[in-house]
Amino acid sequence: GAGTSSATSDNVKVVIRIRPARPEEEAAGSACVQQRSGQVLEADGPGHERRRRDELHYDAVLGADAAQDDVFQLVGLPVVEHCMSGLNASIFAYGQTGSGKTHTMTGMLSNADQRGLAPRIFDALFARIAQEETRLGREKLRYSVRCTYLEIYREELTDLLRPAGPPLALRLDAARGAFVDGLEERDIFNSDDAMALIRCGSEHRRSAATAMNADSSRSHAVLACQVESMRREDSGLASVRSSRLYLVDLAGSERVRASGAGGAQLRETCAINSSLTTLGRVIAELVEAQRRGAAARHHVPYRDSRLTFLLQDCLGGNARTVIVAAVSPAAEHAGETRSTLEFAARAKCI
Ligand code: ADP
Ligand code: MG
Repeated sequence: GAGTSSATSDNVKVVIRIRPARPEEEAAGSACVQQRSGQVLEADGPGHERRRRDELHYDAVLGADAAQDDVFQLVGLPVVEHCMSGLNASIFAYGQTGSGKTHTMTGMLSNADQRGLAPRIFDALFARIAQEETRLGREKLRYSVRCTYLEIYREELTDLLRPAGPPLALRLDAARGAFVDGLEERDIFNSDDAMALIRCGSEHRRSAATAMNADSSRSHAVLACQVESMRREDSGLASVRSSRLYLVDLAGSERVRASGAGGAQLRETCAINSSLTTLGRVIAELVEAQRRGAAARHHVPYRDSRLTFLLQDCLGGNARTVIVAAVSPAAEHAGETRSTLEFAARAKCI
């Protein structure tokens, strides 16, 4: 159809964001990663090999001085346009705990400058919707936006809009595709509604984690947004177009230390690592298949994790996928930073 021809590896973007060093990190010594240009960074070699600095290339590299709005212009705006044209998209924040994932996806909601991708995306989306509805008239074109917000913790699903609700099951349906049964869907009419939703989800993510005596950094938070437009032609015929956007703040990617974690914590870390590894493999398969120009869907291991199973409609084909890999420049994080950079490179080799 119209779709497959435009499916290229350009639909997958990998962006690195280096967070600023904290004063004590700055004092502790040289950075393990440095931006070189808009697409290139220099990083310590594997195994903290500081004498060997590698130059690595990505779709984009954002340094410590990148503002929240720069990230939005680069990553968020194209995704909004993609959704407005009726196509699916997803944005993932990947990286170790403390590297800036939540800052990138949500940011500080009380400070306009520091707001992250999600609030900015909703602002832009509703601005575009108003523009389109005004252009054609609301009797001809009308949009609706519905959102869900869920958390995946140890492969279990929790509704972040109704955390005390019943347990949720992941199902596959011929008409709907993969969906979560019983998840609260909220109609969102404007940016204020969207802000309230983001705030509600973020607060529940924190409190749910505390109640389980866990850390919110051990869960994936998945904000989903369905954009539907109903168009009425002069002939009286009506058509509906629908697209979906997923904004995913992934669990911390830190690996278990050789000593230390055991029992429940070790199992939890294994679950996280295996779902992140699956995500990486799915994306790498898609990039590779699109490069070869092959129809690849059945080779892609969507089923190996809840996350990729749920998001399969927004990965591959015409869907636009962006990974923002967040890294710390601190020398003490060199190992985790390196492993994030390698994950990003495996997802898409430039
Ligand atoms: P994560 O979600 O990956 O665990 P956070 O987003 O919570 O990490 O970031 C950890 C801390 O660093 C927070 O206090 C956050 O405000 C700060 N931070 C992260 N990235 C940036 C950035 N680009 N600019 C300023 N502060 C940042
Ligand atoms: Mg976080």
